[in-house]
Amino acid sequence: MRSDRTFTMIKPDAVANGHIGAILAKINEAGFRIAAMKYTKITKDQAKKFYEVHQERPFYEDLTDFMSSGTIVAAILEKDNAVADFRKLIGATNPAEAEEGTIRKEFAESMSRNAVHGSDSDENACIEGAFHFSGTEIF
Ligand code: UDP
Repeated sequence: MRSDRTFTMIKPDAVANGHIGAILAKINEAGFRIAAMKYTKITKDQAKKFYEVHQERPFYEDLTDFMSSGTIVAAILEKDNAVADFRKLIGATNPAEAEEGTIRKEFAESMSRNAVHGSDSDENACIEGAFHFSGTEIF
């Protein structure tokens, strides 16, 4: 399993608030290379599949409604230690707990509308990347 790739989505809140450019700039400044990227929208069913691990959690319906409510940017990012370094760059799930300088601290609206997704393991990065991109779309 390669450890130099992670998967991200700029979520509907950050897209609607006009933060795509600023978030991509932070990602570039932190040393990530974009291996794949698309501006897209997912259906409620796709959101339910993507967040399947959370299906028993109380926020599952709201989360999947939110993630299918507007356009997103999906991307595969490359860098040594990609998963851990990207989690550090995005900050805590709850922006009130996110460190200064992190993407969520700067751009998230709330715990649920928290601007970006970042894979939490190499295995999930691989699964989530494949959810959005075919092999020929990754460079
Ligand atoms: N989430 C939420 N309420 C919670 C916990 C999580 O709405 O109490 C949402 C939030 O958008 C989060 C996503 O569900 O990013 C996935 O949760 P996870 O615990 O995997 O957090 P992450 O890995 O995104 O920091």
